[in-house]
Amino acid sequence: MSQSIDDLIKAGLVAPERAAELRRVAERFAVAVTDEMAGLIDPADPADPIAAQFLPSGAELRPAADDLSDPIGDDARSPLPGIVHRYPDRVLLKPILVCPVYCRFCFRREQIGRGHGLLPPAALGRAFAYIAEHEEVWEVIVTGGDPFLLSPRRLKALVQRLDAIAHVAVIRFHTRVPVAAPRRVTAALTEALAADKAVYVVVHANHPRELTPAMRDAVGRLTRAGIPVLSQSVLLRGVNDDPSVLEALLRGLVAMRVKPYYLHHPDLAPGTAHFRLDIAAGQRLVAALRGRVSGLCQPTYVLDIPGGFGKVPLCPSAARSDEVHGCWLVTDPAGRQHVYPPPDRDAG
Ligand SMILES: *Cc1c(COP(=O)(O)O)cnc(C)c1O
Repeated sequence: MSQSIDDLIKAGLVAPERAAELRRVAERFAVAVTDEMAGLIDPADPADPIAAQFLPSGAELRPAADDLSDPIGDDARSPLPGIVHRYPDRVLLKPILVCPVYCRFCFRREQIGRGHGLLPPAALGRAFAYIAEHEEVWEVIVTGGDPFLLSPRRLKALVQRLDAIAHVAVIRFHTRVPVAAPRRVTAALTEALAADKAVYVVVHANHPRELTPAMRDAVGRLTRAGIPVLSQSVLLRGVNDDPSVLEALLRGLVAMRVKPYYLHHPDLAPGTAHFRLDIAAGQRLVAALRGRVSGLCQPTYVLDIPGGFGKVPLCPSAARSDEVHGCWLVTDPAGRQHVYPPPDRDAG
């Protein structure tokens, strides 16, 4: 486990000449790379997609005009510490603000990785009380930080507390632990997730190389316990902005019983401009996947609108209305257009 620039130099992951610059990066944004992720990096490849995600880079110190310190407007929607309530029927619960690895493109990079990171017990109690008082909350999304870094004892207490709130129907965890620290997905952790309510786990994975045998085993422990596992990925320039890379990632996930849920357009987090790509490029990638891989492999390509206006799908629409002829024009995966009729007004 590397948690400082000195650790990364000792592990042979960064060149000693870069120490001064990278120390400045590490002062601003937390750094951690697990041995599992370090083991996937080819230090000889300057464009290594795993290194790009986890190893700090001088590019993070370059401010871009579009950077936002609260990229998706969580602060304005946070009624109390540990809760974000943007949509009426679901809340985010953030019991912990540390992660096993610090992704260089993280949209919460200014909030995470400080201190031991646990939401203090009194604040956690107030967060549970908020959920219990808001009967419109149908789903609780436990995120962070990474909630799978909680001990099985704390995780079990959290699940049981939410399970006991009558109007909460679904408990959803978002985590990178099955990828970044797969051995932490123990039998005790899996048992801690047992509930009467539906419990879902969403794993974050961005490159097919992250789908290691150890990760597959970790996911298997969850799915064998009857927990549906979904995935989310972030579309990142230089990491996975290539149809064959996305194809291998999505096929690999589905083949281990993980249903791709979202492909996120990158957020405007500070010091992450080098990961951003144009929405048109993202739409071309998603369109290329459409004809190429099973429907089971298709995530929804989404943008979280800066400022807190919510997530919207960015998938290119295959259908457009032809006002002149009163019909629809539909484009197939090969790019050919077809006419689709409007409903017959005289029918029925
Ligand atoms: C992303 C997000 C959710 C969950 O959205 P889904 O579309 O249901 O996955 C909920 N609350 C906030 C504040 C979010 O950012």
